Amino acid sequence: MNSIIYDVIIIGAGASGLVCARECARRGQKTLVLEKEASAARKILVSGNGRCNLTNSRVSPAYYYGNTELLHSALENFSYQTAYAYFTDLGLLLVEEGLGRVFPATGKSTAVAETLKLAVWEAGAQILTSTEAIRVKKGELFTVTVANGERFAARKLVLACGSCAYPQAGGTQRGYELAKMLGHSVNTPRPALSGICLKETAFSRLTGIRSQVRLTVLENNRVLDCAEGEILFTNYGINGPAALNVSSTVSHTLKHGNVAMEINFFPQLADGTAFLKARAERYTNRKPKDFFAGILHENLANLLIDFIGLRKTIPVGSQTPNTLNQMCRIPCRWPVTATALRPWNEAMVATGGVKTTEINYNTFESLKCPNLYITGELLDVDGKSGGFNLHFACASGFTAAAALSKEN
Ligand SMILES: Cc1cc2nc3c(=O)[nH]c(=O)nc-3n(C[C@H](O)[C@H](O)[C@H](O)COP(=O)(O)OP(=O)(O)OC[C@H]3O[C@@H](n4cnc5c(N)ncnc54)[C@H](O)[C@@H]3O)c2cc1C
Repeated sequence: MNSIIYDVIIIGAGASGLVCARECARRGQKTLVLEKEASAARKILVSGNGRCNLTNSRVSPAYYYGNTELLHSALENFSYQTAYAYFTDLGLLLVEEGLGRVFPATGKSTAVAETLKLAVWEAGAQILTSTEAIRVKKGELFTVTVANGERFAARKLVLACGSCAYPQAGGTQRGYELAKMLGHSVNTPRPALSGICLKETAFSRLTGIRSQVRLTVLENNRVLDCAEGEILFTNYGINGPAALNVSSTVSHTLKHGNVAMEINFFPQLADGTAFLKARAERYTNRKPKDFFAGILHENLANLLIDFIGLRKTIPVGSQTPNTLNQMCRIPCRWPVTATALRPWNEAMVATGGVKTTEINYNTFESLKCPNLYITGELLDVDGKSGGFNLHFACASGFTAAAALSKEN
């Protein structure tokens, strides 16, 4: 056993663990961070396509899936304004882009990773890399056993191990196992912020095409979720911001089987069907392909024509009333079927994780095991695309540090 007794051991040097470590150490807590990878902050580095979308000026519980009370509390403690001031104070220059997304001004995620690591070091916390915690035990103290057999002791323990998403940047199941060792239960993690596989293989004809749409997720004709924005057609189905933003709901709903979705290719119009009907009356002599010229991508129009069974050489005004009706309706409510989400190595986050009902909303302390704190993506909280996940990771680490330092 290592002879030092730490005030706090934090398992995981991601955004959540690093913010927590800095906040604990600057309050005088003897803090050790254990990180299994050879370097800290690996997910920060890959985030935002290497640009790191760190937070969002619109941050609110509405952008998350998870326990609303816990989210309210965390986001009150660490609001957008607090986050902006916090990172600026650490020496990071930030810029806001469209949709409230905030990035480091350098345009590189290394700026965020290096700033956080520096802040942890300056505050006096120690980070041990290539050190995987494989067992945790609670006696009078917490004992953490790492992969080489060495043991570390602390009065308080923070699990900030992240989720099992994106294993190539550190994602692992280990955090769930450690939480279970200390009495917690875990809602099965499922991939989220990941591409959606569609049953309708015909869409692979559109691979590489981007389109502005409204995507709706349905269950028994009830709207479960909805997102507006760009989708990218791929050889398996759809990706892109709008697809990612409904992927958490799709992932959950897939538990019960395939998921019905609708794509509206005219999201900017209040009534796309009425628009198409008026257009059909105006351009009665146009053949279907010409009818869609100027309003739909050519390949998409061809797919639609085949899907509905429009007769290609006959003007729209001479199509049967049924096909004409479908021609005006389908582009606004094109039914598709989600069969799966892309696998863990493509998923940016996990939906599911340690049950938040077992966590104190105000402090992130475990309700199962006193002096244990659980933060970040290891919890059953996931955000939409736009900086919300990193914001929550930091907010929960920040909140836990304040609470656990106070109670000492
Ligand atoms: C490709 C990609 C792009 C993303 N882009 C964005 C974005 O732009 N904006 C945004 O908000 N979110 C983004 N995310 C999500 C965001 O990165 C995560 O939600 C966030 O990093 C989670 O932080 P965390 O500290 O909870 O977990 P992590 O960052 O996963 O950190 C956990 C750390 O714990 C370590 N660890 C785990 N188990 C152990 C153990 N047993 N012993 C020791 N160490 C352990 C891991 O190696 C890891 O370093 C992206 C994710 C991916 C994969």
